[in-house]
Amino acid sequence: MYQFSRGMFRELTPMVERRNGGRHYMEDQLYVLHACEGAVRRLATDRHYFARPARTLFADVRCYFPVARQQQVYSIIERYIAFADEFLASLPPAGCDAEGNPLQCRALTRKGTACQRTPLAHNGYCPSHQHLAETEHAAPAALAA
Ligand SMILES: [Zn+2]
Repeated sequence: MYQFSRGMFRELTPMVERRNGGRHYMEDQLYVLHACEGAVRRLATDRHYFARPARTLFADVRCYFPVARQQQVYSIIERYIAFADEFLASLPPAGCDAEGNPLQCRALTRKGTACQRTPLAHNGYCPSHQHLAETEHAAPAALAA
């Protein structure tokens, strides 16, 4: 998700206003960066309760930009939020592979059919078949001995 907040920030940062002779320019840019990252992170983790992400982010950062740039700032934010949103919507739901098929344990049952249980992410076996993951890693060593 990093690429969306960084891309948005890269386009916004040249427009940040140098207020008070630019004394807080770095802090202002940093604030805008953190606001972009926060909005994209929330989009990724809390989408259903984040009703108007582009408007919310714009309201957070608009005071750092000159009045003449407000429309442009809003368009950039809206565009990147839409990219990020589209990207997130294209991801398979949790518990599915990249094609959207539900993940299954890699083991076979005693009947010789594929185990239907949901696997653990770290080794692809369900809790009942964890012992197979251990023998899998032990096998090459046993052959070498
Ligand atoms: Zn299993």
